[in-house]
Amino acid sequence: MTELITIARYSMPYEAHLAKARLEAEGIPVFIADEHLLSINWLYTPAVGGIKVKVPEDWVDAAKDILTTDHQDEIAEIDTEPPLTCPHCGGHNATMVLGDPLMLILTFVLLGAPLFFLRETMKCRDCGATFKRPKSETKEES
Ligand SMILES: [Zn+2]
Repeated sequence: MTELITIARYSMPYEAHLAKARLEAEGIPVFIADEHLLSINWLYTPAVGGIKVKVPEDWVDAAKDILTTDHQDEIAEIDTEPPLTCPHCGGHNATMVLGDPLMLILTFVLLGAPLFFLRETMKCRDCGATFKRPKSETKEES
């Protein structure tokens, strides 16, 4: 048996699940420890002492790289995105809103879908309108 090493610790279960999804997407086996202590209310209850994300010893370095490097990439990507045009007033002050966190978590748990792919709703600061972010603008791979 390979020993499991704790590579990250989270106070909220969904954060641990995010990390797990991210690592699994890279083919790394992931285990979440201490989650069972939270009972059925884990969605609402911050964990006491934290949720540990563990990977087999051989995967520790790769997993840490993904959790740090990938995250920075995502932030950079968001920062460099061009402003979106509001379809209602034509303004360029739209900001991203992530909806109800609980709904995001439930979707994640029930569908098993990585959160990155969930809808991103934009809200216009000028007129208050909300609209879906167009998908085609962000990723056009030829
Ligand atoms: Zn607007």
